[in-house]
Amino acid sequence: MVLKTGQPVLVQVTKDPIGQKGARLTSQISLPGRYVVYVPGGGMSGISKRLPESERTRLKAILKNLIPEEAGVIVRTAAEGVSEEELTNDVARLKAQWEDIYQKSENPNFHAPALLLSEPDLAVRVIRDIFNEDFRKLTIQGNEAWEEISSYLGSIAPELVTKLEKYVGKGDLFADFRVEEQLAKAFDRKVYLPSGGSLVIDRTEAMIVIDVNTGKFIGKGGNLEETVTKNNLEAAEEIARQLRLRDLGGIIVIDFIDMVLESNRDAVLRRLVECLGRDRTKHQVAEVTSLGLVQMTRKRVGQGLIEAFSTTCDSCAGRGIHIHMEPVKMKAPMPQVNSQSASHDDADESEATEHEFHETLNTETLNTEEPDTETSSNTDADVEVEAKPAGRRRRRAASSGIITA
Ligand SMILES: [Zn+2]
Repeated sequence: MVLKTGQPVLVQVTKDPIGQKGARLTSQISLPGRYVVYVPGGGMSGISKRLPESERTRLKAILKNLIPEEAGVIVRTAAEGVSEEELTNDVARLKAQWEDIYQKSENPNFHAPALLLSEPDLAVRVIRDIFNEDFRKLTIQGNEAWEEISSYLGSIAPELVTKLEKYVGKGDLFADFRVEEQLAKAFDRKVYLPSGGSLVIDRTEAMIVIDVNTGKFIGKGGNLEETVTKNNLEAAEEIARQLRLRDLGGIIVIDFIDMVLESNRDAVLRRLVECLGRDRTKHQVAEVTSLGLVQMTRKRVGQGLIEAFSTTCDSCAGRGIHIHMEPVKMKAPMPQVNSQSASHDDADESEATEHEFHETLNTETLNTEEPDTETSSNTDADVEVEAKPAGRRRRRAASSGIITA
């Protein structure tokens, strides 16, 4: 495609800016719904590989009649067991959304760059992408959020409305449910392990470094190798958890405590790989280096938990950071398009989509490949989600300088 200067193009932001990198844009528009991702321009279609064969056949049959020939559709894992009516509604909503975008983009009174559609409010996005019957309860504080969420849920999944609960306490929802306490823990460099050992997690410019330590009283008359191995196994489990919790990406180097026996070293590595298996984000554990360091990579999804909540400390010129209790506005360069980000925060899915896109381009056979699409829900099944009204005013700078030389 040849573009001329000044020619308006319709694009979608697929990835938020991270660090120095600007946002990633695509001309292939895709609109995420609850059960499907609608691709008005076509070019990619797929169905989650996590769905059983019979279910895939059923869903394909239903969607065949719903999706226009020129359009594509990606079926999310969440579509499993969903009725024809629900799917129809989902597709209808997305079609209407596309119609609206298209009309606006064709309108000569609309001058680029202009925002045609932005992702809904975070609360609604969380409901759309994550909230399902696996959750026991959803507690909501604030009238506005309550109205918005209950009406949205009422329209897309009325059977889940009974799980909504309005917070009636006088205090703060996050404090009452100790969410902020959990958050604060996730900012700490040090993470304690069940048997008294600990992890120290540090970010450097090039990589994340995780040091594994034992507790104070190791090997007291006992078997040192055994104690160390047990500690390393606990560390392996906790590391997998922390990577997800903190949204850590890039190169990660882990320094486990030295073990004498190869069988123990293997056991720790196996445990790490096994625990990472539950991580839906793309990752790879490479070889153990000659110094006994475990090298791995994990795909960057968001900007990282600590990056979202911190600002560089001016006093020590970047040697330390200030942690805030609220996410900090990103200072990364924004794209020319005047958009909040139309990405649907469904990183795994968009990766799968992109992969699929290239494959279809290469093979020229559409609708044959099925990407392993999945939702971004890393949430454990029985967790409660507490939604807060957007725009909380409190912003407390909690501490400074959590990173040392
Ligand atoms: Zn400082």
